[in-house]
Amino acid sequence: MRHARSDALGRLAPVLHTDVLVLGAGLAGMRAAIAARQAAPALRVTLVSPRARASGSSFANRNNALGMQAPLPGQEDLFVAEALRLAAPGHAAPSLAAALAEDAPARLDDLLGLGLCFRREEDGRLRRFPGCFSSVPRAVVFDGLAQAHAAFLAQARALGVELLFGFEALAQLQQAPGGRVAGARLCALRGQQTLRIHAGAVVAALGGPAPLFARRICGPGGSGLAYGLLASAGARLVNTGFVQWFWVEAKGLDFVNPGELAWPEPLAHLAGPRRQHCPMAYGLSDAALDLDLLARQGPGGLTRAEHTQRGALDLALAAHAGNGGALIDAQGRTSVEGLYACGECASGMHGANRLGGGMVLAALVFGARAGRAAAQEAGGQAGGPAGGRTQGTAPAEASGAEQERQDNGQALLRWLGRGMQRFGTPGAEQRTQASARQAFRARLRAVLEDAQTGLRSRLLARSALAVLEGADQADLP
Ligand SMILES: Cc1cc2nc3c(=O)[nH]c(=O)nc-3n(C[C@H](O)[C@H](O)[C@H](O)COP(=O)(O)OP(=O)(O)OC[C@H]3O[C@@H](n4cnc5c(N)ncnc54)[C@H](O)[C@@H]3O)c2cc1C
Repeated sequence: MRHARSDALGRLAPVLHTDVLVLGAGLAGMRAAIAARQAAPALRVTLVSPRARASGSSFANRNNALGMQAPLPGQEDLFVAEALRLAAPGHAAPSLAAALAEDAPARLDDLLGLGLCFRREEDGRLRRFPGCFSSVPRAVVFDGLAQAHAAFLAQARALGVELLFGFEALAQLQQAPGGRVAGARLCALRGQQTLRIHAGAVVAALGGPAPLFARRICGPGGSGLAYGLLASAGARLVNTGFVQWFWVEAKGLDFVNPGELAWPEPLAHLAGPRRQHCPMAYGLSDAALDLDLLARQGPGGLTRAEHTQRGALDLALAAHAGNGGALIDAQGRTSVEGLYACGECASGMHGANRLGGGMVLAALVFGARAGRAAAQEAGGQAGGPAGGRTQGTAPAEASGAEQERQDNGQALLRWLGRGMQRFGTPGAEQRTQASARQAFRARLRAVLEDAQTGLRSRLLARSALAVLEGADQADLP
């Protein structure tokens, strides 16, 4: 169903209707859309993605492979204990960690059913690896992300998921922030077109905050808008300061584990534990190595260090992924009615740190749970007397298409990236002047409060502030 409605400048903006609207087509969004259709084949499910091709950290990351924690039946308690041990000083709920363990066998079966290319032992069994922060070999790995993307897309199409490529979400449709979410406002990546899609329930699967940083190794095509979109809708965010950081060689962005550097005493004994995980840890003693490298940063954010095998290297910190996002319940519901979240923009199943392979598991488990629950909610509304999904909704922010397109946020993003690299990295409060940090935040708040600023820039500023405010709460050693 389609009709047109005047936007703030008086032009006609098409209005579409669906039952479940999924924003983002990484592992989490694909899984949510598939689960929604499987749960309620009579409902319309629409999946929105800025790009048709494989993109984001799920389907275009530079490793061309993904590991997934896959605890076997009987291993649930150990898995949950490990996941929660890593959560401090962040916030994690035992019930959400338990959901990961409970659903892992079913979500692994999904991937096997899609024919993904898993690494196997000679006898054909799945090969199991210890993920970062763990010595238990329970993670499985698949190669070939373009193939994985094609397999997910084919399944979504076969189930009748409606695919809407070339658009990104710039606002949720709701009467006021915190009120029920009843759809989203989309803007074409190219051209002037805007759309409003009214929906019975919305699933945000928008990826993480790494695109906000100048140095990053996330998959291409991420927007960095997730925290901004969720916060604008009034969703409660947690763990947003716990960005995952990797050390890379500054030129080629090749990964370097600080545990492989030559360390004098009294830090040398931390090299062994540090080699057990790639991202910098929060709240663990071996983060002292990372903080030492950070304290020695010179111009351009580079630290010269001696690698035990590769000699002198110029190292820099690169944003890899986030551990924060909208706090969800066991069905993927955020604190805002009608709005679900999953994947890297959702949190609470892990805290400050997460097990290697834990994000793929979380994206699939909470993608499936959110998709099912959203379908159930939308189904109830579709059958309701008022046909609620098409009634009484208006965007909280109303700015015209022209303003949105002219301000695609690129200039702000360039400025923002450098600032986030300087003020959003761990321990920035010790290394940078308080006045400079305050000025940076004041500029972000000004962007946010200026009614003339385009929606995209405002969302970027809001995402950045969510990371910085989260970092204020992070308790570094
Ligand atoms: C190099 C690398 C290796 C990794 N390896 C592992 C691993 O082995 N195991 C593991 O567990 N994790 C790993 N991760 C992390 C993991 O890949 C990601 O956290 C996970 O894939 C995120 O999935 P997602 O669906 O939430 O987000 P993404 O895959 O990033 O997808 C987000 C989607 O949202 C879309 N989008 C963004 N903004 C908007 C908008 N405004 N409107 C509509 N759509 C939007 C994007 O275009 C994209 O389609 C790795 C990450 C990297 C970078």
